[in-house]
Amino acid sequence: MAGLLQNSGFKLCDNDKEAEVIIFNTCSVRKHAEDRVWSLIGSYKGKKIIGLVGCMAQNYRERAFERDPSISFVVGPQDIHKLPKIIKKTAFKGVLERKTWETDSQCRPEEIYHTGFYQDKQHAYVVISEGCSNFCSYCIVPYVRGPLRHRKSSDILDEIKQCLSQGITKITLLGQNVNAYRDQEVDFTRLLYLVDGLAGLEEFDFFTSHPKDANLDLFKAIRDTAKSARRLHLPVQSGADRILKLMNRGYDIKDYLALTDSYRKIVKGGLLTTDLIVGFPTETEDEFKLSCALLSKVKFNAAYIFKYSLRPGTQAANIAESLKPGEKEKRHQRILELQRDISRSLRSKNADARK
Ligand code: SF4
Repeated sequence: MAGLLQNSGFKLCDNDKEAEVIIFNTCSVRKHAEDRVWSLIGSYKGKKIIGLVGCMAQNYRERAFERDPSISFVVGPQDIHKLPKIIKKTAFKGVLERKTWETDSQCRPEEIYHTGFYQDKQHAYVVISEGCSNFCSYCIVPYVRGPLRHRKSSDILDEIKQCLSQGITKITLLGQNVNAYRDQEVDFTRLLYLVDGLAGLEEFDFFTSHPKDANLDLFKAIRDTAKSARRLHLPVQSGADRILKLMNRGYDIKDYLALTDSYRKIVKGGLLTTDLIVGFPTETEDEFKLSCALLSKVKFNAAYIFKYSLRPGTQAANIAESLKPGEKEKRHQRILELQRDISRSLRSKNADARK
């Protein structure tokens, strides 16, 4: 977005006081993130032209103007290429007419990935696929980002070459489920080999992987590509099979453990991290303990552990929440403490091994 706007004559500001237009690039995955955005928008009331962009824009559409009338424009993730025109139009309109919402496009035009703007001069994120068709029952992403679409591998490689020509040496390939990537005969592992062969690149990694689509070929590619950062983020979400089924994740714990075992055997010394949700509706104390047991067994280098957050419109929103907020919080604290101990002991073991 910054690149698109700069190329259209806008200037980025170092601080919000100077800015005439403030754009909130938003996430709808958890309610907490949305609440923070509403509160921040409130703090600018009437002082700036305010744009709500990204997943919250797609989620709320024109309802965003009812929720906060100080918002001037609402632009969904598939429509960000329209931003420069929308802002120019908004800036010249009277205050009462400043309401534009664009949330109709099905996909982004390829040009948005070639603006040449990179905030970080060493590292860049490169999107390989947009959207998601998995419909995990708790997740709003398929509703706000649309179905899975793959960029052409030649476009991805061109974008990376453009990064490299500007001195960037590290890239992260991004997608909601990178393992499902396919562009004709180029699947995700093939793409990793193609990226690895680019001159000037020093290191790459990728996320997010989905356990139902991760496989041994992927692990071998991590091992055999010289520039892979040798880390894998493999979200498990729960240690209980019944909850995984309710989540519509498409694997059970036996499958998941087989994957992590293979990863560790193939990618010796590779880092392994995960995501986990605590307090999914109907999760019992025993099922919560299964999640704790999984962390103790696999010993992830890091785990990103979240309390379940109800997202209206998702399948899981139809399942009544069984835990009181205090109980969910207690489970969250218990499992965070457990993971802190695991990560700490892994770090000290690694430090001893390096001595
Ligand atoms: S794979 Fe990830 S993005 Fe897609 S529905 Fe599941 S949790 Fe959401």
